Amino acid sequence: MRLATHYVFTTGVLALFFSYFTSYYLVLAGVLAVAGNLIIDGLGHKEIHTRRGTIPTRTPLTHTVPRSVVWGMLPSIPFFALGLLVGDFPWFLLLSMAIGPSHMLLDVFTEAGIYVKRDGKWRRYALAHFRYNNPLANGVAILLGFLMLVLSLHGSYHYYSVYKYFL
Ligand SMILES: [Zn+2]
Repeated sequence: MRLATHYVFTTGVLALFFSYFTSYYLVLAGVLAVAGNLIIDGLGHKEIHTRRGTIPTRTPLTHTVPRSVVWGMLPSIPFFALGLLVGDFPWFLLLSMAIGPSHMLLDVFTEAGIYVKRDGKWRRYALAHFRYNNPLANGVAILLGFLMLVLSLHGSYHYYSVYKYFL
């Protein structure tokens, strides 16, 4: 999928989770989603030049479900450190393990797919074969991202009501 589509979708996923834990959920979700997806696509996409033009492909370096978890979580490390300094360890940031799989979830519907290991070899796996820039596929993913952002308002409402209750 397009990088911008990944940003919106992953931000939605993270906002949905984070909104139960902090009032800064939108900023955190946005920053971590952009950084995580940049790493995954920056390291994992290769352009192959052929006579018929340039084809974007991906490599098993980042585009497998287990590896994407690790790459996607990297940007949250400074925030863990920051939390430790402030004295309040942000355990909920462990939920950023969802960044990688949320990227894989979209790419599995594109023609380049993602990688799975079978018989000790990397094989490409795809559920559908949309081009990475297919307007319909990207549109649906962006719409789902927005929907999750709207739903995250419910989480923040929950956060504020609990917060008020305990103080
Ligand atoms: Zn990708």
